[in-house]
Amino acid sequence: MLIDRSAIKHNLQKVRELVPNAQLMAVIKADGYGHSMEVAASALDRADEFAVTGLDDVERLRGQGIDKPITMLSPTFNTDDLNQMSARRVRPVIYDLGQLDALSGLDPSAELDIWLKVDTGMGRLGLCIEDAHLVASRLLGHSGINSVSAMTHLANADDPEHPSNLRQIKQFLKFAEEHDFKQLSIMNSAGTVAFSDHAKDLVRPGVILYGISPQRGMSAMSLNLRPAMTFKSELISIKRLPVGSPIGYGSRYALDSDSTIGIIACGYADGYPRHAPSGTPVLINGMYVPLIGRVSMDLITVDLGDIKADVGDQVILWGDDNPIEDIAEMSGTIAYELLCGITTRVERIVI
Ligand SMILES: *Cc1c(COP(=O)(O)O)cnc(C)c1O
Repeated sequence: MLIDRSAIKHNLQKVRELVPNAQLMAVIKADGYGHSMEVAASALDRADEFAVTGLDDVERLRGQGIDKPITMLSPTFNTDDLNQMSARRVRPVIYDLGQLDALSGLDPSAELDIWLKVDTGMGRLGLCIEDAHLVASRLLGHSGINSVSAMTHLANADDPEHPSNLRQIKQFLKFAEEHDFKQLSIMNSAGTVAFSDHAKDLVRPGVILYGISPQRGMSAMSLNLRPAMTFKSELISIKRLPVGSPIGYGSRYALDSDSTIGIIACGYADGYPRHAPSGTPVLINGMYVPLIGRVSMDLITVDLGDIKADVGDQVILWGDDNPIEDIAEMSGTIAYELLCGITTRVERIVI
């Protein structure tokens, strides 16, 4: 697997152009969406802040000398943790009333910059509006708290016409009007593309930074993005088989003519989706060939047709010219899952 740092830098610039007046919190959770969190963080040195999930990610980033503010999106913490976060410019997200106990013991000299997460219709993490009002009035001006910001998350930003989007935005802005928040943030990647007018103070792009289109039915190319990950392997065997030959487990596929098939050293144990159907494109020497038969643990098979190919040739399972969005869609999943699913046995080469 190849990770191209210059593509990540390029994509960050594209997001800046979409929302030139907003701060940018680069989301590098899940090991930088499978690209390595450290690599992503260093390529994203022009972001304003980072977001990860928990304290272990923070340790890794601070251990690398990264000193930007880091938001922890779904932290669990006690009072000691909070006092340390303040000193280390780590911003906790408050999403549950149960977290207030830890906050009440905060060192008064702490200068914590916190986020309130409000559930406006995602139905996941976040305080409901009434609780959020209560917590906001309690925390604004609380000793040890330097600032309170507020965020919400859209459930359907990848479907801009969905009526819940504007409903959520309106509800959040109405809530926020009643308090003196430092920053407001609504948009993930899909929201940043579809609702740039509502970028407010800060956007929270993730997947788009890695060159993936966050909008259904919109290609990365049409958004001028460059995929940062190229998932590669090689042909390890080529052979001729007669018409009717079954291919792979369950003999679910049979050749409809005498064919040259290629076997590729990649399977679901590497992170290639097991549900990729026959016909999923694989790029070999600039030509697309179809996957045939079932994906197995270490191997997949393709019909080479009449393309020129030799054992040892490189194949591109996804990357430039073979969009991961298409592979994901054919496999009944989303690009996010494929990015995060590359396993440790796959060698990472950073360029
Ligand atoms: C993961 C996450 C994001 C980034 O989402 P993308 O769809 O990858 O842009 C933004 N905000 C929150 C709260 C998240 O959990």
